Amino acid sequence: MTLTSTPTTFHIHIPVRVLLGYGDRRLGEIVTHPEGVEGARKELREMLEDGAIYLVCDSKCDNRKPDGSCAGHTEKEA
Ligand SMILES: [Zn+2]
Repeated sequence: MTLTSTPTTFHIHIPVRVLLGYGDRRLGEIVTHPEGVEGARKELREMLEDGAIYLVCDSKCDNRKPDGSCAGHTEKEA
């Protein structure tokens, strides 16, 4: 067994259901949406319907698992 010398970093991801449980003000501090928090909620519900459980807090994340969470990045990629 060999430990990889390249550290893997993960983007922070939040369960979509947790976000849906937040009030307008709290949600508005975390996500921005052209239609406001109601538009954001609509999109989050659509994500759940598509099978995404998590929302990554960084739109630059390009390595996501089918459940929406970050699959990790090696330092070279990040
Ligand atoms: Zn990521």
